[in-house]
This record gives sequence, C-alpha cells and structure tokens, in this order.
Amino acid sequence: MTPTVDSPPVSVPVHFIDRADRALHDEQLRAAVRHATDLLMKGRQVALGGLEDSDVVRDEARRIRSRVLSRLPDILDRWATNLEARGGHVHWATDADEAVEIILDIARRRGARLLVKGKSMASEEIHLNSALEARGHEVVETDLGEFIIQLAGETPSHLIAPAIHKDRYDVEKLFTADAGHHVGPDITEEAGYARRRLRSSFLEADIGISGVNCAVAETGTIGLVENEGNGRLCTSVPPVHIAIMGMERIVETWEDLDVILSLLARSATGQPLSVYTNLITGPKRPGELDGPEELHVVVLDNGRSAALGTEYAEILNCIRCGACLNVCPVYRQVGGHAYDSVYGGPIGAVLTPLLNPASPGGRELPEASSLCGACAEVCPVRIPLDDMLLRLRHRDARADSSRMRRLGFSAWSWLWATRPGYALSTAAARRSRGLASRLPSRGWLGAWREFREIPPMGRRDRRSRP
Ligand code: SF4
Repeated sequence: MTPTVDSPPVSVPVHFIDRADRALHDEQLRAAVRHATDLLMKGRQVALGGLEDSDVVRDEARRIRSRVLSRLPDILDRWATNLEARGGHVHWATDADEAVEIILDIARRRGARLLVKGKSMASEEIHLNSALEARGHEVVETDLGEFIIQLAGETPSHLIAPAIHKDRYDVEKLFTADAGHHVGPDITEEAGYARRRLRSSFLEADIGISGVNCAVAETGTIGLVENEGNGRLCTSVPPVHIAIMGMERIVETWEDLDVILSLLARSATGQPLSVYTNLITGPKRPGELDGPEELHVVVLDNGRSAALGTEYAEILNCIRCGACLNVCPVYRQVGGHAYDSVYGGPIGAVLTPLLNPASPGGRELPEASSLCGACAEVCPVRIPLDDMLLRLRHRDARADSSRMRRLGFSAWSWLWATRPGYALSTAAARRSRGLASRLPSRGWLGAWREFREIPPMGRRDRRSRP
C-alpha cells in the first residue's frame, strides 16, 4: 500500500537535538502527544489500583522474566519442540536480513500477492514492509494506528499507539485522500471508514503477519493481545500466519503468563485485560473451521543475545507496555520520531545502543533523558532504566577521545572534590543569578535557553547553613 498524501519528502535531521528542536516547534504534535500520554497514565494508575497489591505482582513479574533470561536457550528449545509437535514451524533468525529472507521465502513459495499485518514492533525492527514491497508484494497494515501512519508514509511514534502524534483532523485528511470522498473528523466515522476499508483485505489476503507479546514454553503457545480484533483476523483468516517474535518474549508456564498479562494491559492502556487475548498453539487441525493451514514463527535475535549476560541484560525483561514513554519528560515533549529509532522513549534510549550500536542513535539517545527516574518507577517489571542510561553514558564518555571534554570533566571533578573548590563554584553560580535571562536569544546559547527556566539558587549553600 502506498501513502495517500503526497507531501514533499522532509529530510530528517541527523542529530537528536535537531530532531527534538523541530518537534518542540510543532505545537500540534506536542498537544497530541501530551493529551494521549496523560490519558494513558491516568488509566494506568486506576487500573493498577484494581490489583490487590500491584507492587507484589510487579516483583513477581520481574522474577518471572529474570528466571526466563537465566535459562533462555533451554526455554526456547522447549517451546519450539512443543509448537512443532503441534504442527507449527519455527525459524531462527540471527539478524534482520535473515528474518526478512525467511519471510520472503514463505511468501514466494505461497505465491502471495497480498499480506495483512497486525501491529508488530519486531517487523518494524527488520523493515519488513519495504522489503516485501520491493519484491512486489502488497502489504496492508490493519491496526488502526498503523493503518493511519501507513497512509501517511510514516513510522510508528509510540510502542502501543503508533499514531499518537496525530489528531482526528490529521486522520480526516488522510482518510479523505484515501477514500476519494470526504471522511469527517468524527472518531466513530473514521473508525467506521477504516473497518469497511480493511474488511476485504482480510478476506483476500494470502498471508497474515503478526507480532508476539508473549509465548508459553510448556505448550508451545504464542500470545498476542490487541483491542481491535484485527490481530485475530490476521492470524485466523488468511491461509498462512507468520508471527515474528523477539527471542526474549517468552515465559515458562501459563501461571507466569497470567502474571505478565495482568500487568501488560494495565500498564499499557489502563485496561484490566486487552479486549482480545489470542493464544495460538499450532495451525488449524483436521476438522477445525478456523485458523491458518500453516503457522510459522520467526524468532528474532538481532543483537539480543549479545546483551544477555551483560549488565544490560535486564532490558530484555521489557514487556513493551509503553508506560516509560508516557511519563518521560523528554518523550512527552518531542514524541517518538525525534528518536529516529524503531524504539523511542527511555526503552528506546537503552535498547537502540544495544541492538544497533553502530547507529547514530547508539551514542546520542542515552543523552536524551533528564535521569529523573520516572521511567524506572512506572516500569511493571522494574527495569532500572535510569541506571542503564547512566551506565551507557559512562561507557560512551570513557570511549570519548575528545581532549576538551576530558579536561572539562576532570576540572569539574577536581573543583567539586575539595571544599574550597565547591564553595568557589557555588558562590560564582549565586553571583550569576539572573544571568540566564540575559543570555543571547540566538545561537546555541539561545537554543539552550528557549525551553528552560533556571531556578534561582539559595543565598547560602547547604554546607554553610547552620
Ligand atoms: S521498559 Fe518497562 S515501562 Fe518501558 S516499555 Fe518496557 S516494560 Fe514498559
């Protein structure tokens, strides 16, 4: 499917700071992101309150995920054996290219023309749509948010709400251009248009593609949660279902899945449970009416196993709820595209350097944080995101060969390590009260000042207080 709005190609600035600056000047984007993330956070708070003791459940979820990571190869083997015994096919992909080749092979063998897709961040990670379209296959995104951004020719800007940066008037323009007649900016009308538009694609598709939220080793099951029913249609109507699963997205037992699911929807959308929880264990069996003839699961490594056993391993506990994005003061101001990475927000700032160390974001994104710790506080599996961001900064600082930077930090460290040095620097800062407002409004100092307010310092520092 090609984008319906022919806007001139907009060049993406190379550096985070420039992309963030562009987003900061986009009032509509900021209002849309702020509005949606506020709603999601309020919903999370209420939904977690529905658990008897959410802290206990979160601790248990962390234990479950950490136990999986400590024995991941064995657990994956057990899951694959069980799924294959029920007629599923498991493919192991070391990297994005391998994953794409596996899927292209299946599409070629089946003579597939049309593929329908449910939401899958793993498919974004391997740039699947462009690879399929380059080989002549048509791909239709069926999640409403993904459908919107496919029409806009964009990428998702949030883990669970891909079109979070768009409001209903943006969608009105996109749908009107797609329909060839006016589709009003009423949300029910827009959803109705998308439903009618996508219905025939489900029926005509040769292959359905989905992600995997969580697999269960003891039965070889894959679990997929969603709210629109498009995931269920993608996985049960076309004759072939291909699921793409990050290698860490697995638990051992159904009891463990129960704990993870009790936190996932609550943390993501503020629901006790998603509207649809699809649990798939193999293709259609003889005598069954629904389900695909073939089920393939592509298990994606793509840098994950390199993180196992390191001080960053815990990042693989992530259940992709998106809560850390919603509370992050950086993400809330600039949205997801400023990160120029498949994964934005705090999870993206940690995951991008680990999965893709050579990307420009690998060095920049750990700096895109205020280190306030709100992300770690809301994370349902208690990933210490702020600690990891600091460690990544530390790692990069040690590798930085810039003489000036080293000298600057050495001088600062020397100054603050002695009492007179500390007193001197704080006295200088106090004397410069009000200086910030007199900084030039142009150039890099002006850019720094534009969105910041510097609180006045106290008259005396803590050491000199009685
Ligand atoms: S890091 Fe935690 S809060 Fe962020 S998406 Fe993953 S599970 Fe959710």
